[in-house]
Amino acid sequence: MTAQPEHVLVVGAGLGGLRTVEQLRAAGYQGRISLAGAEVHPPYDRPPLSKQLLTGDWTAERVVLRTEDGLDELGVRTHLGLRAVALRPGEVELSDGASLYADAIVVATGLVARTLPGQPAQVHTLRTLDDALALRTDLEKAASALVVGAGFIGAEVASAARGRGVDVTVLEAAAAPAERALGAEVAAVAARLFAEAGVDLRTGVSITGFTDPGEAGVAVELAGGEQVRGDLGVVGIGGRPDLDWLADTGVDTTAGLPCTATGRVEGLDGVWAVGDVASWTDREGRRHRHEHWTSAGDQAAVVARDILGAELPPPAVPYFWSDQFGLKIQLIGRPELADSVVPLHGSGFDGGPVRGTVAGYLAGDRLVAVAGFGAARFIARYRPLVAEGADRAALEHTRAALS
Ligand SMILES: Cc1cc2nc3c(=O)[nH]c(=O)nc-3n(C[C@H](O)[C@H](O)[C@H](O)COP(=O)(O)OP(=O)(O)OC[C@H]3O[C@@H](n4cnc5c(N)ncnc54)[C@H](O)[C@@H]3O)c2cc1C
Repeated sequence: MTAQPEHVLVVGAGLGGLRTVEQLRAAGYQGRISLAGAEVHPPYDRPPLSKQLLTGDWTAERVVLRTEDGLDELGVRTHLGLRAVALRPGEVELSDGASLYADAIVVATGLVARTLPGQPAQVHTLRTLDDALALRTDLEKAASALVVGAGFIGAEVASAARGRGVDVTVLEAAAAPAERALGAEVAAVAARLFAEAGVDLRTGVSITGFTDPGEAGVAVELAGGEQVRGDLGVVGIGGRPDLDWLADTGVDTTAGLPCTATGRVEGLDGVWAVGDVASWTDREGRRHRHEHWTSAGDQAAVVARDILGAELPPPAVPYFWSDQFGLKIQLIGRPELADSVVPLHGSGFDGGPVRGTVAGYLAGDRLVAVAGFGAARFIARYRPLVAEGADRAALEHTRAALS
């Protein structure tokens, strides 16, 4: 083991920040840890914000990952409600003017929701607990909702709204929902979920701007002049890394924080990054940023051990899920590396039920990802094949065995 730091400062008190603190303690670190977070809330979980919290099945208390007492048990000094505004070697300046000094700094500041030009204040985005509570309050009163963006968050909002009996229109610029994440063929299967749930999904549309909705609500104009309105509006068009506070460091953060394969930020000594902001280097030397719940935890385990000079855990396979319209979409691996998609199970590609449909993504002869719709049993069985980059023959062998 190398010399351990005296003080580790984690900036960002969300999932990745909390998991880093937990992993440091789990690895036996007994030195000082501080956790600074822009929100006043103790660390909470984001996936339920667009699912159980929005449907009303969960209260806000249930999304908390660690209460203040739980943080005390970890022996971490918290600075909540304070935003980091500048990073200098060994020093982070907070929004109250105070500076924290540490010999290891971990950046886990997540994303900020993107907005549309001219977006009125009453139009929702969904990234934080406060965003979700405000949206839920409006959903309780709405008869119709206008959702811009059919990515995972837009789809989950549409799903929760339909569950409440709200009429939903979803406007999407691409040809199918979550097309960037799933690829065109699999995204076309996902599109059927919207239709079957009674959502008015309009793809390939271009919004020219927000217009006057009349007495209340939200309205947009589409290229071609048509106006579409809802009693409430939600813009779910993704997020951008929350890294404006690093502007003076000289590091190019436009695609996230460039990191080594163990999360060390390139060009900033003594600084690591985890979670949605972090663009880690993979085995082939390519950089990739995952906006996945499991990746934040996996990276925290690596970073904690790298800081302490301890043995690293084995590489993890990226995993993402989304709950929409009564079923779980799961994705393991890296579909963006694929050049072809093959149906593995179910008949969703042939117009049959979406539930039970599973697809494999291949780069040449190698399996790089698998996606499933309500098919958890299969996903678990394909995980090792994705991890090892199985060839077509091994894939066919497993497919036949599971069929
Ligand atoms: C509504 C929603 C639903 C999701 N559903 C799923 C899902 O179903 N499946 C899945 O795999 N993933 C899902 N995700 C993604 C997953 O939650 C994220 O990948 C994960 O939270 C990333 O953790 P993080 O620590 O990088 O960022 P976050 O959890 O966002 O935490 C970052 C924290 O840093 C704080 N911060 C920002 N700037 C500063 C600053 N300058 N100083 C101090 N603090 C700062 C923020 O306020 C925030 O609290 C969802 C995300 C959202 C928003």
